[in-house]
Amino acid sequence: EIAFYQDRFVDVDEAVIPIQERGHQFGDGIYEVIRIYDGKPFTMPEHMARLEKSLAAIKMPLPYPIEEIERIALEALDKSGLKEAEIYMQITRGIFLRQHQFPEPSSPVISIVVKNARTVSEEKRAAGVPVITTEDVRWKLCHIKSLNLLPNVMAKQEAYEAGAHEAVFVEKGIVKEGSSTNIFCVKDGVVQTHPATNGILHGITRQVVLDLADELGIPVEERTFSLAELKNAEEVFLTSTTMEVLKVSSVDGEKLSEERTVIDQLYTAFQERKQMAKKAL
Ligand code: PLP
Repeated sequence: EIAFYQDRFVDVDEAVIPIQERGHQFGDGIYEVIRIYDGKPFTMPEHMARLEKSLAAIKMPLPYPIEEIERIALEALDKSGLKEAEIYMQITRGIFLRQHQFPEPSSPVISIVVKNARTVSEEKRAAGVPVITTEDVRWKLCHIKSLNLLPNVMAKQEAYEAGAHEAVFVEKGIVKEGSSTNIFCVKDGVVQTHPATNGILHGITRQVVLDLADELGIPVEERTFSLAELKNAEEVFLTSTTMEVLKVSSVDGEKLSEERTVIDQLYTAFQERKQMAKKAL
């Protein structure tokens, strides 16, 4: 494990955040999580592009050119010596006396942590995971990968206390996304997920899966669906950088169909995509 703060590599346990850091005091910043397979980053350009979009959305300039940030992240990966890893990267509006308006001049600060990847056990992959639903109490700009994750943290805790793997946000009966995942269902053979509006995070894995379905000739539709539709779907699955493509076995304790044809097809195609991406680097 290794970390980087502002302008230097540090130990992950080293105390480096000044008390008036705006990430610390306001959650004034954004982040990304990138998965490393066998020493090689997966969909890094897509993650860096989303990082730039999140920054633009909160009117924050880059601390360094994007290429330099990518270079530092890869140097950190190299220093960590890890092969199956996650790069966590966050950029905050820097260090300043505590006031709400932006500091002038702007001096954003980057921090990076490289650590071992969290993986889903084979048992969970095979059995699928239970999820619960919870009211979406978040703000209206969920497409920004903001540091303000309190509603997500609360929702995930609710899931864990219920013995579930994920909490799925539902707003006025519409299924949005998980606390750290996107959610899909298969209905009449069509792969469906919430449209990429400001109401959800535009998951990188979500897009990879939509593209893979397209390539496999499986019809896809980005449309909203209700909780009732979710419970009656042929298949339901989650996607994320760390969970990849993961079957959901029950929703709020109600067992779902055991069908997993499309999930297995997409999971296999996802593994092939990882292999291809590795070779291309
Ligand atoms: N939705 C939310 C709220 C998330 O926090 C995440 C990732 O952490 C995702 C979806 C999945 O996005 P990605 O596939 O880019 O990891």
